[in-house]
Amino acid sequence: MHSMTVPATPMMTQWARLKAEEPQALLLFRLGDFYELFAEDAEQAAPILELVLTGRDGVPMCGVPHHALDAYVGKLIERGLRVAIAEQMEDPALARGLVQRAIVRVLTPGTVQEPDLLPAGTPSYCCAVWPEGGWGLAVADASTGELLVTELADAEALAAELDRLQPREVLLPPGLELEAPGVRTSLPRERFDPSLVARHFGEVPEGAVALPAAGALLSYLEEVQRDRPRQFTAITPYSADRYLLLDPVAQRNLELTRRLVDGAAAGTLLHAIDHTLTAMGARRLRAWLLQPLTDPKAIHARLDAVEELVGRPLLLDALRRGLRGIHDMERLVARVACERCSPRELGALARSLVALPGALSPLLACSSELLTAAVVAADPCADVAERLSAALVDEPPPTAGERGIFRDGWDPALDQLRAAARDGRGWLAELEARERERTGIRTLKVGFNRVFGYYLEVGRSRAQDLPADYQRKQTLASAERFITPELKGLEEQILGAEERSGRLEQAMFIDLRKQVAARAAALQRTARTVAELDALGSLAEAAARGRYVRPAVDLSLRLTVRGGRHPVLEQALGRTRFVPNDAELDGAGRRFLLITGPNMAGKSTYMRQLALLVVMAQMGSFVPAEEAQVGIVDRIFTRVGASDDLAGGRSTFMVEMAEVATLLRAATRRSLLLLDEVGRGTSTLDGLAIAWAVAEFVAARVRARALFATHFHELTSALPDAVNLHSAVAEREGQVTFLHRVLPGASDRSYGVHVARLAGLPDEVVARAQDLLASLQAQG
Ligand code: ATP
Repeated sequence: MHSMTVPATPMMTQWARLKAEEPQALLLFRLGDFYELFAEDAEQAAPILELVLTGRDGVPMCGVPHHALDAYVGKLIERGLRVAIAEQMEDPALARGLVQRAIVRVLTPGTVQEPDLLPAGTPSYCCAVWPEGGWGLAVADASTGELLVTELADAEALAAELDRLQPREVLLPPGLELEAPGVRTSLPRERFDPSLVARHFGEVPEGAVALPAAGALLSYLEEVQRDRPRQFTAITPYSADRYLLLDPVAQRNLELTRRLVDGAAAGTLLHAIDHTLTAMGARRLRAWLLQPLTDPKAIHARLDAVEELVGRPLLLDALRRGLRGIHDMERLVARVACERCSPRELGALARSLVALPGALSPLLACSSELLTAAVVAADPCADVAERLSAALVDEPPPTAGERGIFRDGWDPALDQLRAAARDGRGWLAELEARERERTGIRTLKVGFNRVFGYYLEVGRSRAQDLPADYQRKQTLASAERFITPELKGLEEQILGAEERSGRLEQAMFIDLRKQVAARAAALQRTARTVAELDALGSLAEAAARGRYVRPAVDLSLRLTVRGGRHPVLEQALGRTRFVPNDAELDGAGRRFLLITGPNMAGKSTYMRQLALLVVMAQMGSFVPAEEAQVGIVDRIFTRVGASDDLAGGRSTFMVEMAEVATLLRAATRRSLLLLDEVGRGTSTLDGLAIAWAVAEFVAARVRARALFATHFHELTSALPDAVNLHSAVAEREGQVTFLHRVLPGASDRSYGVHVARLAGLPDEVVARAQDLLASLQAQG
C-alpha cells in the first residue's frame, strides 16, 4: 500500500485512484511518450530498472520510454513483481481537461503473454493448488492457452510434479505452506470456485479435486487480463502416474535439460537430440523428454511414426522444409483469441497457415497412426488463411494504430481515402510549381512539420516581397516559413484523409482479428498438432543423424543394450573415440549389477548412459545402440556424485543419505536405480557398512533393476544376488590406460594412486602414497 502523501493535483488524484485499484502492483502510468512511476513505486523500481529518480511536485518519480516498455516490464517481472499498466484512453490532443486513463492490463510472472518477455522453447506455467480431498493441481500456460488438471496422491508427488513443471507462479489458498518453484501468490478461498470452470467452458470436465484449482486459475487470469481469458478453449485432465517419474534429483543428475555444473543447455540430453524447427515443437519435445511414457502402446505409436519418417528421408525432408515456414502458432493463436495480437503477429499467423499445407501434404503418403491422425487433426483453416493473406500486406506494421495494415484493393472505402491522401500529395507538388512561378523564387519549397503542418519555405533574403496571402509562421536562421489559405485547405484534405484512413484501418483490423478469434479453438488444435509433428520430425532427424535404432519396448523387466553409446558424450567426443558398451539386466538373475574399477574409467558414464537410453526409449525416441530392449521403467532414481546442498544447510553426506532414503522407500520392482559410490562421504568403515547394508536391501528387498558402482571391493564377494562387472584398464610397465569398457567380473584394485599420478600430484607424494598403500595392504 502506498503511504506517501501525494499532492491533490488533478493528475495525482487520478494516479492515486488507479493505484488504489491495484495496490499490490507497481503502476506504470502513461504520460505522453513515457510510462511514469510515482512515490514508493518509483523508489522501488528505480534501482531495479537503473533509472534516475527525479521528482514532480515533491513526489519521487521515474519513467521509461513507451517504446521500450516490454524490456523494462520484463526486468520487474523477473524479480517476481506485479506490474499494472495504465494507458491513456483518449487522444491527448483531443481531450478536454485531464486525459482519461485506465489500467488495461496487469502483468505477473506466471501470466505474461508478451512474446518478448518469454523464452521461446520453454513453457510459462502458472499453477494453482487445492489441498482438500487429495491434492488438486491446475496448470495453465497463458501464452498458449494450455490448461491441464490433475490430482496427486500426496504432498511428495505434488512437489515432484511442481518441480517438473517449473511454474513461474503458484496460486495457493491462504494458510497453505508449500515448497514450490516460482513466485507464490495467495488468493482468497472463495476464488477456488469449481463453478467458474463450468461457466467458462459451458460444461463440467472430469477431475473434481482439481476443479477448484482450475477455477482459481481462470479467475486470476481474468483479473490480470482484465477480460475473459479466451485463449483457454479446452481443459485437459491428465494423470502423472502414466509417466515415467523423473524427480528433481534424477533430472539434475542425468542432465536432461540443464548441465550439472552451470545449468547451461549445451551438454544436455535435450540439446543433443533437439532438432525441432519451431518454438512450439521445441516445447513439445522438452515436455516429452521430462515426461516419458509408461504405456507400451503409446510408445509404439510414437516409435512407429519415427520409424516411418526415418525410413523415408525424402518425406522427412519435405515435412521439415514445410515446418520452417511456420511461426509459433500456439502463442500467436492465444494472442489472437484474447484479441491482443498486433497486425504483424496476425501476418505471421497468416504466413504460417499458408505454409501449413506444404508441411502436411507429404504426410498424406504415410501409414503410421500418429502421422495419419495428424494430417486429419491439423485443419489448415483455409478460409482464415485466404482471408488474411488477401487482406493483410506482406509485412504488416507492429501496432494496430499504424497505417498500412491492409492491401490496396481489399476495401473500397479505404482505397478512396488513400487515393485522396495520395492525390493531395500531387496537388502539393502542383502548388509548389505554381508558387515558384508566381513569386519567381526557384528555391521555394513545400515542407511539413508536426507543429505547423504544411508550409512554404523561402530563403530569408527573398522573403521581403511576397504576395499578400502569404502569412509568416516561423523564422529560421536562413529561411522563413509561410502558409497560404490554399495550402491550409489542401492540408486539411490530406491530413483528414490520412487520419480517417488510419481510423478505418484500425477498426477493420479489430474486426478482422475478431473474425479470426472466433476460430481460435480450431486454430489451437492445428497448432498443437503441428507442434507434435515437429517433435516427431525432430526425433526422426536425431535418429537419422545419430544412427540410432528402434528400441523394443515391452512390459518385461528386461533391460538389454548391445553397443550402447552415451548420446551426449558421443557427440562431444566424436563417434570414433567413444567406446560402446553392453548392458544386460533381466529383473531376475541379473538384477543387481555391482560395478568396480578405477576412477575415470567410465563407470558414471556407463550408468547414466543406460538411464538416458531408457528415457529416450520411453519418450518414443530411437536410441544410440546397435540393439536395445527396454522393459518399462516406472521411475529412475539416481544417487550420483557429490552435491552439497549448502543453501539448504545440508552436507554432502547428508544429501547423499537423504537421496538413498528416498529411493529405498519409494522404488518398486519396475524402477531403475543408479547408485554411484554410496557411503563415500564418511569414514571408510562407516561408509563400507552403509554401502553393504544398502546394497543388500536393494538386491534382496527392493528387487529393482539396479546399477551399483563402488570402490569397496569387499562387496564383490559379499552379495549373493549381485552380478559383478568392472571397468577395464590396461596396465603396462606401471602405466595405466582406461579402456572405457565394462566387462564381466570384479576389478582387483582401485588404481587410485595411478589416477593421482595422472592428475599431476607431485612425484614425492605419489611415491609416499605407494609406500603407505603397500604397508597398509601388508597389515591386512
Ligand atoms: P569417477 O569414479 O571418478 O566418477 P568414472 O569411472 O565414473 O570416474 P566417468 O566419469 O564415467 O568415470 O568417465 C571419465 C571420463 O572418461 C569421461 O569424462 C569421458 O571423457 C571418458 N569416458 C567414459 N566413458 C567413455 C566411453 N565409453 N568412451 C570413451 N570415453 C569415455
